[in-house]
Amino acid sequence: MNLADRLHRSAERLGERTVVTLDEAELSYAALDLMTARIATLLRRRGIGAGDRVAIMLPNVPEFAAVYYGVLRAGAVVVPLDPLLRKREIASYVGDCGARLLIAWHAFAETAEAGTAGTRTDCFFVVPDEFRRLLRALPEENGVVPRDDGDTAVIHYTAGTTGRAKGIELTHGNLGGNAATVARMHALGVDDVVLGALPLYHSFGQTCSLNATVHAGARLTLMRRFEAGRALEVIRRDGVTVLQGVPTMYIALLDHPGVSDLSLLRVCVSGGAPLPVDVLRAFESRYGCRIVEGYGLSETSALAATNRSGDGRRPGSVGWPVRGIEMRVVDEDGHEVPCGEVGEIVIRGPNVMKGYWNNPAATAEAIRGGWFHTGDLGRVDGDGFFFLVDRRRDVIIRGGYTVYSREVEEVLYEHPAVRQAAVIGVPHPELGEEIAAVVALRMPVDAETLRAFVRERVAAYKYPRHVSFVDELPVTPTGKILKRAIALPLTTGGQPSRG
Ligand code: AMP
Repeated sequence: MNLADRLHRSAERLGERTVVTLDEAELSYAALDLMTARIATLLRRRGIGAGDRVAIMLPNVPEFAAVYYGVLRAGAVVVPLDPLLRKREIASYVGDCGARLLIAWHAFAETAEAGTAGTRTDCFFVVPDEFRRLLRALPEENGVVPRDDGDTAVIHYTAGTTGRAKGIELTHGNLGGNAATVARMHALGVDDVVLGALPLYHSFGQTCSLNATVHAGARLTLMRRFEAGRALEVIRRDGVTVLQGVPTMYIALLDHPGVSDLSLLRVCVSGGAPLPVDVLRAFESRYGCRIVEGYGLSETSALAATNRSGDGRRPGSVGWPVRGIEMRVVDEDGHEVPCGEVGEIVIRGPNVMKGYWNNPAATAEAIRGGWFHTGDLGRVDGDGFFFLVDRRRDVIIRGGYTVYSREVEEVLYEHPAVRQAAVIGVPHPELGEEIAAVVALRMPVDAETLRAFVRERVAAYKYPRHVSFVDELPVTPTGKILKRAIALPLTTGGQPSRG
């Protein structure tokens, strides 16, 4: 079934009920469905149809939903791009997937045009009022172009690391199934209001906020970008019942001085990066709403595992796989390791991507023996709860000892002065790597105090010899601390640079 059918069905059922808002702007299910039908006409008139790729570069605005489902309705494939991409990145992504069209928000017109110059991708700019006028003048395309579960619906590009860009191909079946799973896990219903603060171009926000809301017939209240004070206002103003966020959002809410009545909130979901246990506990005691942590990757359509309500939760764990999905911890040869031992997390199930677009070598490397290899290290306890230990590439080897950066970060977060912490390996002539911590503070503390604090709590080889301070750590819009972008203000001999 085409993912756009889910919107169409909800529209038939819920007509004039609101599906998406951004402050005063509001769309009903019927209006959104009609817009998608007209966008499908617009695309067809440009000769775009089943299987063609259409890139979209839109912020969190109601038009995102219209264009996204409009492209799908026409049978084409959505390639969502981060609106903040530079022209070189745009050129690389639209070139790689051979996009016929890039639909961009008017404010990004210049970069979009520069990025598509010299490619075969045309540009179309969304200027809100003009766009609505244009659409109103178009007849709606009848019906949704049929697509099979195995047909590609969306290609997500992996965050720009080195090497060739990888386009994650997700099918209508992958995404529709995962949206239904998310809606079921959080018992989403027509009376729910979901805060749409996660970027919709990324799989977490797209599946868990947009697609799950539409599947359930709920309402999504968007924020162009997350800001804690504003989020508290929107939560109160719109009676938000479901908050989905990355750990940096929970940290920001915790640091916000304002007091807010969040009594309507019934579930807070965290994912995308490790949620320090201390942040979870502090958030819950301040706001009185439980945080449920989940885990997944863009390659797994978003959600693979999650904690449950009641006793089905263990702080620090990502819970266990959702229905229909299998998850294991394996060694280098792909054999399952005994309970409690650390290995790579592998995932199998209907949420696993079809592959990397036009890149059979990368696909074969990632999906081996039917299992998708995540590159995340973890362990599973006797009750089946999974714990993420570190990303494989963030593991530090100090003098032959393995140090998981996350373990040391968790200890740093226990100190009341620490707002953000990243533990990284820095080159060392004898040890290979030495442990360094880079910390953003919420109140003054010196480096020696933090060093001593960690030293008392972990084995001697693990505590950070270097501690340095920054005002803010570099964080991606999807909540991951960009360890590679941390400029180390280190002095020699392990002395702190300041503090
Ligand atoms: P992306 O493909 O951008 O969604 O990123 C997926 C990566 O985010 C995973 O491979 C994990 O490293 C990380 N991640 C997602 N959820 C969690 C979580 N709950 N705890 C720790 N890391 C997470």
